[in-house]
Amino acid sequence: MGCGTSKGLPEASKKGYISVVQSLVAFSKAKDEDDGLKKKARGPWFSTGVKNPQTVPNSQQEPLRDGRQRDRVAKYKDTFDPRVTARYNIKALIGRGSFSRVVRVEHRATRQPFAIKMMEVELPEGREVCASELAVLQRVSHLNVIQLIEVFQSPQRVYMVLELATGGELLERVVSRGHFTERDATQALQMVLAGVGYLHNLGITHRDLKPENLLYYHPGADSRLLVTDFGLATSGGTDKGFLGGDTETDNTWSLRTTCGTPEYMAPEVLLRKPYTCAVDLWALGVITYIMLSGSMPFEDDNRTRLYRSIVRGKYSFHGDPWPSVSNLAKDFIQRLLQVDSATRLTADQAINHTWVANMAASSSMRNLHRSISRNLRQRMSRSSSRCPSSTTTFGGSNK
Ligand code: ADP
Ligand code: MG
Repeated sequence: MGCGTSKGLPEASKKGYISVVQSLVAFSKAKDEDDGLKKKARGPWFSTGVKNPQTVPNSQQEPLRDGRQRDRVAKYKDTFDPRVTARYNIKALIGRGSFSRVVRVEHRATRQPFAIKMMEVELPEGREVCASELAVLQRVSHLNVIQLIEVFQSPQRVYMVLELATGGELLERVVSRGHFTERDATQALQMVLAGVGYLHNLGITHRDLKPENLLYYHPGADSRLLVTDFGLATSGGTDKGFLGGDTETDNTWSLRTTCGTPEYMAPEVLLRKPYTCAVDLWALGVITYIMLSGSMPFEDDNRTRLYRSIVRGKYSFHGDPWPSVSNLAKDFIQRLLQVDSATRLTADQAINHTWVANMAASSSMRNLHRSISRNLRQRMSRSSSRCPSSTTTFGGSNK
């Protein structure tokens, strides 16, 4: 398989930016979406209990908005195997990707809300993505990593019951809170780095870190931030996945698969060199840059030029709001956006960087919200007037 053939997710990525803009305009939460789920699930099923649903705290639920939505939900319910619907009441569609649909559900016995990520596994690509995701999810348990509750499987589909994140994506929150300082950025980073450091210590590389895959658990200001979407993640060592699929790591703990979302891809991935979990730290450098400015460090409609600027590490701190951003914050970004992965901060070093550890104590408390929102809006209007291919996720292609 070549680069870009197995997990192209232009819809999902574009949707992430659209939802941010919707927040900019209406300060509203992401809406439920319509989509057709065509095939009926059949065949043998089993459920793997991972965690008792009762141990997961309750969070708020949205009432069904109108009859139209009720009809849609009824349609989705029909596509679920009775063994899933016997246990969970399907409430609403809340997300979708190339091989997955995510629905909000309620556990019938406890009435607690969860998410179910339903993945089509008939095609090899979907099967591969699902196997990677499950291989990782079944190993992890951390406050800043999405928690798998249980799994149902058929030859056509896998249903992963996950804790439900209702607080929205990272950038939605940056936009919707109306006030955002460096201190707020470091608060978010501490949580993401705690999750990523935990994963790296387990030998897991996420490989698709981006704002759309960082979800707040609940809408409150004290919500934890969760690393989600392990479709491109890989575990250290050769690992037989849940579905019997191999993840493509080797025993020397270096990776060769070209995958990710172009704007967040590390130089060594683009250069098709063996790489390590340091690729996640590069992505976190990109995420920090976006969080503080609303713009991307590397951006170009032309894919070749985009890749060239990434492999050269060519970006700048020009334009608003960079003159108001502290040197310590810029130092943090520079230490992550190191072309040479050997000199890049590790997750442990990043969480101990003065700017993060001291929660930007010596930085200005300037509200960056207006600049960030304006830059995000401009970026969105540019990307909606062109082909969305630059936000495609690539995955699963060995060299
Ligand atoms: P994909 O690989 O298709 O990007 P994701 O795991 O990112 O799959 O899920 C797609 C979307 O579904 C996310 O962007 C998010 O909006 C929503 N979503 C996924 N998991 C959850 C969850 N546990 N709680 C709430 N929403 C979720
Ligand atoms: Mg995703």
